Amino acid sequence: MTWLKKIFGGSSTEKNEAPAFQQGEQKMSDASIHIHPLVDKGFGPTDETFQGGKLHCHCSQNKVEVTVKAQCAHNHACGCTKCWKPSGALFSLVAVVPKDAVSVTANEDKLHVVDPTAAIQRHACRECGVHMYGRIENTDHPFYGLDFIHVELSDDKGWAAPEFAAFTSSVIESGTDPEDMGAIRARLKDLGLEPYDCLSPPLMDAIAAHNAKASGALKKTA
Ligand SMILES: [Zn+2]
Ligand SMILES: [Zn+2]
Repeated sequence: MTWLKKIFGGSSTEKNEAPAFQQGEQKMSDASIHIHPLVDKGFGPTDETFQGGKLHCHCSQNKVEVTVKAQCAHNHACGCTKCWKPSGALFSLVAVVPKDAVSVTANEDKLHVVDPTAAIQRHACRECGVHMYGRIENTDHPFYGLDFIHVELSDDKGWAAPEFAAFTSSVIESGTDPEDMGAIRARLKDLGLEPYDCLSPPLMDAIAAHNAKASGALKKTA
């Protein structure tokens, strides 16, 4: 479905190395599979009183700073090829926040939009390449009004924990051997991240409901 690709982006030829990375704790699944630095060690609990925090790019000086005045929602590991992820990670970690809660509070001049034709306008630092936030400008998009952020860019603790893994099969498009997928899915399950090959059922239902209201198949509710 091409519209699904439009949500989180399509394929790219970018390679993503996944070096062996031994963790201390051995579970049933292969702990050497490097999903993402923040989930490999266990993310920690969500702070229900958390009100947001600041995100910083990876530059050593003149960091781009984005202030988020809200807790995030639908935090998840994403296997697509468009989300920014740290080197060596198989998955990105991405969440949504209301766009009105997001503002650039320092060094905005260093930001540029990675791909102006993409549904999600990913605003990245020109110098270090880190994606600071992704915004949907199309008011008809199912997720219009939400910005995509990476909570790992924040030193503040209490962000909502990741809930699932999206676009799991897409890590093959980054160079992962299809034969490794069984072990990767087992690892995700061990980490408490149910692997899906699109988005989670609640988000897929939200998209379908949006489309059904737009087409008239579902009556709009006031
Ligand atoms: Zn930077
Ligand atoms: Zn993604």
